[in-house]
Amino acid sequence: MDKEWIYMDNNATTRVHNIVIKNMIPYMNKYYGNCSSSHAFGKECHKHLDKARNKMAKLLHVKPCELIFCSGATEANNACLRGIFNKRKHKGRHILCTSIEHASILQTCEHLKKNCRAKITYIPVNKYGIVDYSSLKRLIRPTTIMCIVMSENNEIGTRQPPKLMRKIGELCKRKKIHFHCDATQTIGHRCFNPKNYLINSMTCSAHKFHGPRGIGCMFIDSSSDYDACCSTGGKQEGGKRAGTENLAGIIGMVSALSYNMSRLDKTQKHVKKMREFMKKELEFLIPEIVINGPKNPRHCKFNTLSICLPDINSRKLLSYLDKYRICINIGSACSLGKRSKVLQACKVPEELERGLLRISLSEYNSLKEVKYVAKILAKLYYKYQGILI
Ligand code: PMP
Repeated sequence: MDKEWIYMDNNATTRVHNIVIKNMIPYMNKYYGNCSSSHAFGKECHKHLDKARNKMAKLLHVKPCELIFCSGATEANNACLRGIFNKRKHKGRHILCTSIEHASILQTCEHLKKNCRAKITYIPVNKYGIVDYSSLKRLIRPTTIMCIVMSENNEIGTRQPPKLMRKIGELCKRKKIHFHCDATQTIGHRCFNPKNYLINSMTCSAHKFHGPRGIGCMFIDSSSDYDACCSTGGKQEGGKRAGTENLAGIIGMVSALSYNMSRLDKTQKHVKKMREFMKKELEFLIPEIVINGPKNPRHCKFNTLSICLPDINSRKLLSYLDKYRICINIGSACSLGKRSKVLQACKVPEELERGLLRISLSEYNSLKEVKYVAKILAKLYYKYQGILI
């Protein structure tokens, strides 16, 4: 193996496609005007922004006026939750939220609870991370104004079954509850039409699908009221998100999404094959391994393999993996150092969680790399089992 990193932490961030970088360059050295400037150059840049918005809207199956560009999914989740809560709180203050959401959702819910008298109920999931629909239904109150369910989980790679998402959407519609979906780990990797699930708001982030960092967007359907309460100081994005538009970033995001969607089948096939191979190889080499997340591949995020190695402290193991220039992660990069709320919700015992590793693949990985990483993991496991704890 040469000195290149073997990068298998694609749920944290991804390599930017070369074509995306190429497409972005003119928007830094040619169309570098401020899209909100009144001169003709600014207006010309704004035309490119409009074109990009139309293209993004088409790719996401939404209307251009329903899209708000922002810095990424953390900002988007914050803005959606706070902005929608503010507009609906006169109807009630109760929010339903799955217990396996990303920190940008969970901590925003806790903030609303502490500071805005929101009542939060966490929807239980089964041991694979799949939402318990009957509990969700039972937990609805007359004051419930919002229900939050992510499409695919970044830590253990659970994909909520599409039929279940539709059922939740229908239930929310019947009960007049706003349905929010964090689709950060889905957009750019699968076809996902929020209207098929009756989703009212959705968030995504370009750096999760080989686009640049610092750009993302939220979709809020035209029938939902939104208060731009956490974004003052500018009238950009229809007055819904203040701040100079990141045109180069937006172009990068749209071009990454469009490039991925044009080659979706091929990429999925390649990545699924590698995940399956990695799983089989690890199960063969380390029979005591525990695989987290659903058993049914249709309920899995197809690039993610979350494992627990018994009798190993995976934090300590990572430094040994560094020596082999292998990048795999523990859980979410955003909840570093703490016990994972996701694994707790799936009732993974604490002693097993110590040996947690998340392998998240992309089209840039090869079968050769997968074989090598499985071999190194097994080698380190047998060398340090019972020692690195
Ligand atoms: N939601 C999910 C499901 C994520 O995986 C992440 C990134 N780990 C985020 C939100 C936050 O995204 P960003 O880095 O764009 O703020």
